[in-house]
Amino acid sequence: MSFIEKIKPSVRTLATYAVKGKALQPGLIKLNQNENPFDVPDDIKRDLVEDFLRRPWNRYPGVFPDELLDALSSFVHHPVDGIIAGNGSNELMYTVMMAVVSKGSKVLIPSPSFFLYEKAVRIFDGEVLSVNMNPDLSFSAQEILDVARREKPELIVLVSPNSPTGQSMPVAEVERILKETDSIVLVDEAYIEFSEKQSVKDLLSGYDRLLVLRTFSKAFSMAGLRIGYLLAAPSLCAELLKPKIPFTVNLFSASVSIRLMARKDLVDRRIAFIRNQKNFVLKTLRSIAGVESFSSDTNFLIFKTRHPAKTLFDRMLERNVLIRDVSSYPMLERTLRVNIGTEEENKTFLAVLQEVL
Ligand code: PMP
Repeated sequence: MSFIEKIKPSVRTLATYAVKGKALQPGLIKLNQNENPFDVPDDIKRDLVEDFLRRPWNRYPGVFPDELLDALSSFVHHPVDGIIAGNGSNELMYTVMMAVVSKGSKVLIPSPSFFLYEKAVRIFDGEVLSVNMNPDLSFSAQEILDVARREKPELIVLVSPNSPTGQSMPVAEVERILKETDSIVLVDEAYIEFSEKQSVKDLLSGYDRLLVLRTFSKAFSMAGLRIGYLLAAPSLCAELLKPKIPFTVNLFSASVSIRLMARKDLVDRRIAFIRNQKNFVLKTLRSIAGVESFSSDTNFLIFKTRHPAKTLFDRMLERNVLIRDVSSYPMLERTLRVNIGTEEENKTFLAVLQEVL
C-alpha cells in the first residue's frame, strides 16, 4: 500500500500552491504579488546587520516576542495581551483555524476572496459556506447575515479591503454582522493602510468575538521577512495562544518591524505615493477602450478585457511585465490583477498593456 493513502483525504485532494511566472530576474517588472515597490531603507539594513553581528544567534528568542509586542501595543493603541505576532499573517490565520475549526465546523467566507482561507478550512475538515459578492464585487452584508443566521457558522472571515477584488466592507456593516450573529468574526486588514476607509479596530473594545489580522508585508515593505499580527480581546488571544507554534517570530524580523514603526513618516510617505499612483493608473485604465476596471481600497487594481486572461498574461510576460491572472476565481472571468509599482513600472505596465490589447 502506498503511503499516499495515509495522508488525510482533506490534504490529498488539495492543489499545490504555486505562483505563475518567472522568478525575480533582471529587467522583470514584478507586479503580481501586491508587494511594496520600495525596499526597507539601506540605513535600517546596515544598522541591523551591525547589531546582529554583536548578538548571539545560538539562543532562542522569547516564546513570544515581548519587545515587538510592546512596540505594536504603542503603535496601534491596543493592550499588549490582546496582540499576537506571527511569521506573517498567514501563520496567524492557520493559528485561528487550529483553534476554531474541526470536523464539521462551519466557516462563512464571501467569494471571491483570498484563497488561503478556504484551503485552511478544508485542511481542518471544516465546511466552507461560500457567499457571493454583489455583481459589482461589493460585499453583500445582507446575504452574509441571511446565511449566518440560518447556518450559525463558528467563524465568519471578512477580508476587508478584499483580495483579489479590492473593495471594503463598511465598518457599520461589520458591526451589524457582529451584533446579529454569535460567530467569531475575523477581519483580515492586510491592505488597510492603503485604504481611505476606516479600520474595524475601534470595534475591538465592544466585541470579544472580533479578530483583526494585519501584516508588515505590504505597506511596511517586509514581505520577505514575514511579520504579521493579530488584534483581539485578551480573553480570545489567551485561547488562540494555546495551539500557536512557539518561537515563530525571529529576532531579526522583529527588529526590522520595530525600526520601521519608528519611521512612520517614511512609511506614510510611501503609502501616499502608492495611493496617488493607484489613482493615476486607474484613471488611465478607464481611458483605454476595451478595458473595464474597478475601484480599489488597496495597492492593486483588477481589470477585465475581451481577451482570455491567460492570453493577455502571457503576452505581457513576453514583454517582461509580470501581473496576475485571477480569472479562475468565481465572478472574475477574463480578469487580471496588477499591483502598484514605481512610477516608471506603472507607466511601462500601461504602455505594454496597450501594446498587447
Ligand atoms: N491576507 C491577504 C488578504 C493577502 O492578500 C495576503 C498576501 N497575499 C496575506 C494575508 C499574506 O500576508 P502575510 O505576508 O503577512 O502572510
